[in-house]
Amino acid sequence: MTDYDTVSADVEHEEEIPEDHPRYQDLLTRHRIETGVEKGITHLQGMHAEGRGSAFDYLLGEETIPSADAAERAAAAHLLLADRPVLSINGNVAALVPGEMVELAAATGADLEVNLFNRTPERIEAIAEHLREHGAATVKGLEADARIPNLDHQRGKVDEDGIYAADVVLVPLEDGDRAEALDEMGKTEIVIDLNPLSRSPRVADVPIVDNIIRAVPNITEHARDLADADEDELRGIIDDFDQERALEEAEVRIRNGF
Ligand code: ATP
Repeated sequence: MTDYDTVSADVEHEEEIPEDHPRYQDLLTRHRIETGVEKGITHLQGMHAEGRGSAFDYLLGEETIPSADAAERAAAAHLLLADRPVLSINGNVAALVPGEMVELAAATGADLEVNLFNRTPERIEAIAEHLREHGAATVKGLEADARIPNLDHQRGKVDEDGIYAADVVLVPLEDGDRAEALDEMGKTEIVIDLNPLSRSPRVADVPIVDNIIRAVPNITEHARDLADADEDELRGIIDDFDQERALEEAEVRIRNGF
């Protein structure tokens, strides 16, 4: 019999976490964040964000609910239709889904840009290197030669030919202020956030209330499925998606459990 209680403290490599553990995804997520902190990729505040996310995921049943799957398909359609799609990477995203973000970028023709709340040159470089190790050919965010209006100097830094010029941006686990500022710039914003009451999903054109560990591979799967779809079909998927309803359905699931 597995001694489940000792698993999280003792694990050095994620392969040691038993896949049949009742809280497997939660342990995997926590382990990746801890490793991210050790590697200098994730800020300590990322641990708190992870804790909040974990509580919401528990209440969601740790599964992709139907409205999140619809949001993930709409996100894929937006990314495929975009002229300049960009996937924003912060410390938690880099720790949790580096290879999965690289795959999503390849499936949709999007750029990857490192964009940090607590920005230091060391952390930016560590994250860019981590993404390269996971197969990224080009990583933006190192130039930081443009600013998002209405944000303080450090938090507003972006690449001119990256997030600044993007028409569609995927901003997972994003801070509310920056999500609002990007929205004010008129960008089509896709947010992944397990808390449907948080400001970021509320300003998003496509709020995805799902764990990023499940959400990103599922957007990629939808993008591959839609690779040959014509513009009308992609626009149809986007038009059918109702952001208010998606947020409501997630909240109902969290409050009522069904
Ligand atoms: P606001 O958007 O209002 O500023 P906040 O301060 O709670 O809200 P942050 O700490 O900036 O938000 O961002 C963390 C958010 O990411 C939280 O809402 C949390 O639920 C969510 N989150 C954490 N881990 C995950 C995960 N693995 N997948 C998806 N969302 C997650």
